[in-house]
Amino acid sequence: MRYLPWILAIPFVALAACGPHPGGPQSKPATGTKTAGVENPFFHESTLPYYMPPFDKIKDADFMPAFEKGMADERQEIQAIAHDSAPPTFDNTIVAMERSGRLLTRVSKAFMNLNTSNTDEAMQKIETEMAPKLAAQRDAILLDPALFARVDAVYQKRAELGLDPESAQLLERYERMFVRAGARLSATDKAKLKKINQELSKLTTRFRQNVLAATKDGAVVVSDAKQLDGLSAEQIGAAAQAAKARGLDGKWVISLQNTTIQPPLAQLKNRALRRRIFEASVARANGGAHDNTAIISKIVELRAEKAVLLGAPTYAAWALAEETAGTPEAVHGMLAQLAPAALAKAKQETADIKRQIEAAAKADKVEPIELEPWDWAFYAQRARQASFDFSDDQVKPYFEMNRVLKDGVFYAANALYGITFKQRKDLPVYDPDVRVFEVFNADGSSIGLLLLDYYKRDNKQGGAWMDNFVDQSFLLDRKPVIINNLNISKPAPGKPALLTFDEVTTMFHEFGHGLHGLFSAVKYPLLSGTNVPPDFVEFPSQINEMWAREPAVLAHFAKHYKTGAPMPQALLDKVLKSQTYGQGYATLEYLEAAMLDQAWHMLAPGKAPKPAAVMAFEQQALAADQVAYPPVPPRYHSPYFTHIFNIGYQAAYYAYIWSEVLARDGGAWFHAHGGMTRANGDAFRAKILSKGRTEEPSVLFEHFYGGKPDIKPLLEYRGLTLPESKPEK
Ligand SMILES: [Zn+2]
Repeated sequence: MRYLPWILAIPFVALAACGPHPGGPQSKPATGTKTAGVENPFFHESTLPYYMPPFDKIKDADFMPAFEKGMADERQEIQAIAHDSAPPTFDNTIVAMERSGRLLTRVSKAFMNLNTSNTDEAMQKIETEMAPKLAAQRDAILLDPALFARVDAVYQKRAELGLDPESAQLLERYERMFVRAGARLSATDKAKLKKINQELSKLTTRFRQNVLAATKDGAVVVSDAKQLDGLSAEQIGAAAQAAKARGLDGKWVISLQNTTIQPPLAQLKNRALRRRIFEASVARANGGAHDNTAIISKIVELRAEKAVLLGAPTYAAWALAEETAGTPEAVHGMLAQLAPAALAKAKQETADIKRQIEAAAKADKVEPIELEPWDWAFYAQRARQASFDFSDDQVKPYFEMNRVLKDGVFYAANALYGITFKQRKDLPVYDPDVRVFEVFNADGSSIGLLLLDYYKRDNKQGGAWMDNFVDQSFLLDRKPVIINNLNISKPAPGKPALLTFDEVTTMFHEFGHGLHGLFSAVKYPLLSGTNVPPDFVEFPSQINEMWAREPAVLAHFAKHYKTGAPMPQALLDKVLKSQTYGQGYATLEYLEAAMLDQAWHMLAPGKAPKPAAVMAFEQQALAADQVAYPPVPPRYHSPYFTHIFNIGYQAAYYAYIWSEVLARDGGAWFHAHGGMTRANGDAFRAKILSKGRTEEPSVLFEHFYGGKPDIKPLLEYRGLTLPESKPEK
């Protein structure tokens, strides 16, 4: 359910864009650009509709030459801007930068996407090599005194330029981007900063690769089939297959996913195996061959030094200045307000779980076990079944993937926005399971392309996310090319993919990010689509999730895959009711991780714990924030907390719940205005989904919602009650 801001991982993509091009999105290829030999497919604009990457022509060997030429081109273009003999203007400086780096953008976007969803060893090597080089190029540009002098000269004259609001916002963003990157520092401090950034790019890449390796190594091998009692036949088959792939014929392998809690813990009856899986999960990258503790200690120290160099007291203060939240105090205030409510709710759920444990012990005529973290999911599942009286196996036949897509996701989008979808089987894809849809407005005009890569593969990162291959921009005459990635188990040939309701919700969620990219209607690439802060980007996706639970939508897609019979009303009601179950656990494990993130980034230079003390720091931080509760460990322990040590959510992991406050308010707005109507959809599209970052997100939200965010709808949804002593706001 995560949107990965690759823009932060590959440093200069935000600035990289292009020059004039030969025609509209559907224009035919320029001729005469191809020599007789095989040419690097990135060296020219794609000739496919919407400039979609020519996946059938891209080989691993094309990436490095394209990165090298792309970086060289960009350096040259930027030098020309920096040393232009004409006096600086908005056009010859700011807009010129928006047009620069066209080749680098092309290769970066394709590489980042493919390395995440369809990687191989060669691509991982390229990633290791390119990360510090791209960081250096970004610094060379943002710390170039001649270039900054021109940007700043334009900025100082901004009041006299008569810029339209979007251009004024672009200028503001450029000035801030340069200043925040250190453009005003002395030459000595700039040199220090460049060194820190180099070091950080290497450390964060190593962090991610260590997590990948440790997660693979942490997989649990089972020798006795009886221990697998509780898993489905499908899952046992997959575990046997995974063992075979590792040369462990006749055994079973349970692979780990990114979070602390592993899904099989909810099903496995064998307590010893549950414990082994849990312990393998939390041990990842904490010591051993892929240890991340020393890397964490260094990253935290370097980030603290960087922040101080840039004039902020802590890294969190520096990072949050660019977020909607604004300050660490605002973030901490919100998290601290929720924490006691989440803890109280988790304790209520504990009581429920203990009742299950006692009942099970009584039935087996044994002493009840002491509740441990590896037991929670198992007994919570039983408690949920006891309360709501249904299992996933009962509902899955009503959630067939393709029907959910067409009669659910697309159906709701059509009702709200009038858009339609046409599959394009004629366009090349990088894996046969990837599907391409062309998206149209109600008046028949085209919007862009939507790629769907829904199935799990061994070479695909876990989780779910949205990304862009092409950003929408009027300046560059580009319509968006968007992708949604999920990790749904691929069914046997000829069999349907039957989903859990969680997977259904994830499909709607990622499609919500997709709409934010598709509906973008802005001039400049830097301000386009989902190029907004993390604490705003999850707002449209969480709004779209809501339509999966909308009774009219749910009834429309929840039909039996064999008979087409609608899901019985009683079962439908149970599915909807059970959605709020387990919110105490979910909220608390999330808040622990979010507070841990803040704690790591509130450290002053020289205060980072030694590697051996990293885990103790974690414990102290959780205790200090009053969220430490042993049955509910953090969603991520630091050594595998990739969000904050690699993919750009450092000091910003709180963003999910911050966005959710906006989404629950937005949901209340829709329902107060008549629900799923074209008028409401069009209003949301006009005021939020089309706007990118052409205005500050908080302004966009208020303009749409008609007021400041209110935390009450979120509390209601999650079934949380604030302690009376705390004022609500
Ligand atoms: Zn998301």
